[in-house]
Amino acid sequence: MLKLAPYAANDEMSRGRRYPESSPAYRSQFQRDRDRIIHSAAFRRLEYKTQVFVNHEGDMFRTRLTHSIEVAQLSRTIARILSLNEELCETIALAHDLGHTPFGHAGQDALNDCMKDYGGFEHNLQSLRTVDELEERYAEFRGLNLTFESREGILKHCSIKNAKELGEVGQRFLDKTRPSLEAQVVNLADGIAYNNHDVDDGLRSGLITIEQLRNIELFEDQHIEVTDNYSDLNGRQLIYEIIRRMINRQVVDLVETSQENLKSHEPKDINEVRQHSDDLISFSDKMKAANLELKQFLRDQLYRHYRVHRMSAKASRIICALFDAFINDPRLLNPEHQQNIQKAEQESGQPGRARAVADYVAGMTDRYAITEYRRIFDPEELT
Ligand code: MG
Repeated sequence: MLKLAPYAANDEMSRGRRYPESSPAYRSQFQRDRDRIIHSAAFRRLEYKTQVFVNHEGDMFRTRLTHSIEVAQLSRTIARILSLNEELCETIALAHDLGHTPFGHAGQDALNDCMKDYGGFEHNLQSLRTVDELEERYAEFRGLNLTFESREGILKHCSIKNAKELGEVGQRFLDKTRPSLEAQVVNLADGIAYNNHDVDDGLRSGLITIEQLRNIELFEDQHIEVTDNYSDLNGRQLIYEIIRRMINRQVVDLVETSQENLKSHEPKDINEVRQHSDDLISFSDKMKAANLELKQFLRDQLYRHYRVHRMSAKASRIICALFDAFINDPRLLNPEHQQNIQKAEQESGQPGRARAVADYVAGMTDRYAITEYRRIFDPEELT
């Protein structure tokens, strides 16, 4: 690994793991974290979870897995330029969406509704819960026993109520302090990835058009540059040439703005990063405005498109129906899940029962949720 900046996360400054373990012989602590994520069951399920387009709509659209890999790529590039810890960035990026429900935001909103009397459902918190509690792989501890720094990065947002129950990793939401620079990088790389791939997927789906996007500054600037250089270009190549330039502009802006921030504040180490009043990794004000314009466009024209809404509405019904069916009659589930629900209920009553059902539903892939729905509700399905 290249030399790290003094304010980067590193093994020596790590706040450690919940259950003490001996140091890995040939890897850094954060490499070990990353490797544990890659071998987890929740990571494999990302392949069949989606955000905007449901899996069966086509093989070319992004899934949560390819999204997470894109976020990891962008984060590592940025980390390397800023001499931050690439391995920690990669770990956080690969893990950041592990707690997502099937069917993206529609699924998450539906599950949050189902859980409103039992503390709600937050996907960031669920990502942390997945690595802390739900993965069952190791003999000596529950979850993946990741370092504090990985867990801090995974928990991007959290309500104050939940933060109070989380102990050390929730403390920053109460103290209003910052996470590591690596966590800040991944947070913004996440936005760069999804804004750009949703433009790409949106165009591919035909739900939005190049003509519409030409009203958006970030897109139009690159469109002019590409068509000036390659006047005959059209189709997919035109779109790719525009999008690669959009990504590049955002990454360069982020790197240069952050370099200036770091130079003027000179944090001595990761603790000073955490105590700083603002995030030191940021876009320029101009890029923030351009990003916001693109985001609003995608929200209005793509995420709220009636054809997307049809799928989202269907997704909500599937999630709510499954949740209701299982919470009312856990015997519909296989014995292993029945036992989990029973145990949770013994420990914490009805909220425990609800949480165990939510964990089960949240863990489903899109296609598994659809299949389960058919099995439970379709009289023709007798399996
Ligand atoms: Mg994401």
